[in-house]
Amino acid sequence: MTRFDGRVAIVTGAASGIGKEIALRFAAEGGIPVIADLNLDAANATAAEIKSKGSDAFAVAMNVADEEQVEKAVDDVVAMFGKVDVLVSNAGIQIVRPLVDFPFADWRKLLSIHLDGAFLTTRACLKHMYAANYGRVIYMGSVHSKEASKLKAPYVTAKHGLIGLAKVLAKEGAEHNVTANVVCPGFVRTPLVDKQIPEQARELGLSEEQVVKTVMLKDTVDGEFTSTDDVADAVLYFAAASSNAVTGQSLVVSHGWFMQ
Ligand code: NAD
Repeated sequence: MTRFDGRVAIVTGAASGIGKEIALRFAAEGGIPVIADLNLDAANATAAEIKSKGSDAFAVAMNVADEEQVEKAVDDVVAMFGKVDVLVSNAGIQIVRPLVDFPFADWRKLLSIHLDGAFLTTRACLKHMYAANYGRVIYMGSVHSKEASKLKAPYVTAKHGLIGLAKVLAKEGAEHNVTANVVCPGFVRTPLVDKQIPEQARELGLSEEQVVKTVMLKDTVDGEFTSTDDVADAVLYFAAASSNAVTGQSLVVSHGWFMQ
């Protein structure tokens, strides 16, 4: 018997990076991850990788910011597996630019993926979770749910917002045994971060090595990047919780960058 035997988890943005690790680890402990991603080819590849290890997995095309696509994908999952036990709202992007000339279209795009995406996937899953009287919802926040950095206005705004959403869901969901929590990682070496190292270097007039050492890892206790495994550990802790005791919380996983 493993922690997630027979459980079904929708993990958005699970074709890559942190979401992919969460899906792999959930499957390794007996669960069935649904790899919900904009990039269906990459989602299929992740599902195939999981199946090659003897576990079950399912890939679905989903733009989390598109109401119809989210509703349809979640209904398809429930038609196939009869339920959705866990939602990991993880899909996200990063756009770095100073506030003074941040394009409005980019501001809206980022907020829409992070916040509309979290709302739409939550709402679509909740009706099934309430019917089953069980659910675990985990939002992918960031140290930027607690802290600000230059050049990241919409990202910091969105990641702070997810904590508010989780707290409301913790209150509304409690009578249906639905918990909601936020995991807040430090910098993790995924494509999302690899892309912003040269961008930040350009904007801040630093070398890429300086960005890593003096911007990204400066305040960690050990100069280490957070790993996808570090983040998955925290997500799976919330996903496995056996009661409403831990709900409405946010857990920072950042090698000590941010301490509460
Ligand atoms: P990533 O770029 O490796 O993966 C993101 C995935 O999301 C990709 O597979 C992409 O196709 C998918 N995606 C993007 N837009 C989407 C949409 N509209 N609908 C569905 N899928 C979409 O990034 P990552 O680093 O693994 O980031 C995952 C989450 O973790 C994000 O919410 C990010 O903000 C958060 N986070 C990342 C870090 C970090 O340092 N990497 C730190 C803190 C928080």
